[in-house]
Amino acid sequence: MNTKYIFVSGGVASSLGKGIIAASLAKLLQARGLRVTIQKFDPYINIDPGTLNPYEHGECYVTDDGAETDLDLGHYERFLGIHTSKANNVTTGKIYHTVITKEREGAYLGKTVQIVPHITDEIKRRMLLLGKSGKFDIVITEIGGTVGDMESQPFVEAVRQLQWELPEDDLTTIHLTYVPYLSAAKELKTKPTQHSVQTLQQAGVHPDIIVCRTEHPLTAEIRRKVALFCNVKPGHVIQSIDAWSIYQVPLNMKEEKLDEMVLEHLGIHDAKEPDLRDWCAFLDRLRNPKSEVDIALVGKYVELQDAYKSILESFVHAGAANECKVHVHTVHSEFLTEENLEEKLSGMDGILVAPGFGGRGIEGKILAVRYAREKGIPFFGICLGMQMAVIEYARDVLGYADANSSEMDPETAHPVIDLMEDQKRTTIKGGTMRLGAYACYLAKNSLAERIYGDNLISERHRHRYEFNNAYLEEMEAAGLKASGRNPDTGLVEIVEIPEHPFFIGVQFHPELKSTPERPQPIFVAFVKAAMERRSK
Ligand code: GLN
Repeated sequence: MNTKYIFVSGGVASSLGKGIIAASLAKLLQARGLRVTIQKFDPYINIDPGTLNPYEHGECYVTDDGAETDLDLGHYERFLGIHTSKANNVTTGKIYHTVITKEREGAYLGKTVQIVPHITDEIKRRMLLLGKSGKFDIVITEIGGTVGDMESQPFVEAVRQLQWELPEDDLTTIHLTYVPYLSAAKELKTKPTQHSVQTLQQAGVHPDIIVCRTEHPLTAEIRRKVALFCNVKPGHVIQSIDAWSIYQVPLNMKEEKLDEMVLEHLGIHDAKEPDLRDWCAFLDRLRNPKSEVDIALVGKYVELQDAYKSILESFVHAGAANECKVHVHTVHSEFLTEENLEEKLSGMDGILVAPGFGGRGIEGKILAVRYAREKGIPFFGICLGMQMAVIEYARDVLGYADANSSEMDPETAHPVIDLMEDQKRTTIKGGTMRLGAYACYLAKNSLAERIYGDNLISERHRHRYEFNNAYLEEMEAAGLKASGRNPDTGLVEIVEIPEHPFFIGVQFHPELKSTPERPQPIFVAFVKAAMERRSK
């Protein structure tokens, strides 16, 4: 069988959940035994989202091979349980960078370099790249942005060209739109969908299937109307109604027969029935918790849910694994003070201090660490959260009142978190952090070893600063143990306090590898520790 390509575009509004629809379809096809991957094409001109403020685009998701990518790749990995790579996220910036570099090398000598064909050729090359590896039966491509945006036009044009270049059976297109409900008229409105499909068709792309996001069920009449006006097969207009969990969406799409329609378009007639037993078992546990806990998520990007997407999802997975409903309470670190610490944190069964960059809000994070440490509340620090735990220990237990990270205070006499030599030489900001998967060796009889049930693990990183090993002996003697070290460099990746009921800080980002079917072990153990505290 040739590799098949599915393109998913969106119209009417952003934030309709195109990534979730694409991931849900991928899940259904994968559950039928097909080898599936998903990639995202983002129209912005940044090379990658690594240099974007989380307020712009939410969390930056990091792959094993160290690519800084769009948060939709997190959904792809969580739904499919696969590892994505650099090739799975392409931006306009990357496309232009390649074309301009080639132009300077003389690859187009004598020619005027243009959007069509040079930019669109490079887009098409990348759209087909993963498919050419021979590793996948199906490659789903999500086109970021909304059809009609100036930035996404070259991507839509590339899809138009591929419609002619690939055999008809090898490509199908899905368009996601929004059908609003006007409560005054008590009516669902299809006009925005009609306009959005018109825009797509004017660009020469004909959708095979239209998925309508809606808050109310679509009647048969509405579906017929959309099909008629948008020129698709009757029956190939389906609804994606608000779901109680994003993880329910694959089942809703199965109910709507999205996978069957796609297989029909692609001429695949021998796929088996989807096996979703593990997925459904997870949903069952998620829906029927037997207990609950309150966890504080202390961070400075709390105004935007998407900034901590993977952490929030990891709690969903870990909660289900423990049959426990995890209520995550975001606490703004910038406004956490000695005066309101008790009020904000005393009711919590666990405290997580979040990753982050820069000095804003770090004193609040340090206060939260101290509170958790002194009160024996389960504590989990991630990346900057781990660094804050080290600073707090240095200040309060070692007595270095000015201890800090050189990120926040380059002049501090006690840089317990510091830059390594190679980072000191780096002046360029994009793609130069310690990125991607690194091995970590766990100390015998440590909490970390008990949690993972293993001695050698691999987790993903995204940071510049590190635990300063000049303080290691002193810290360990005072009770803060380095229970995870990089086997090659000796860098400290995990700290813990054995005297405390549950206190762990990790330099890596464990949240990036949690999935419903394989919840991340530290999150599972942290929720369990919170449940134990709650029951006391
Ligand atoms: N700002 C810190 C560093 O660069 C932590 C980064 C993070 O939390 N991802 O080391």
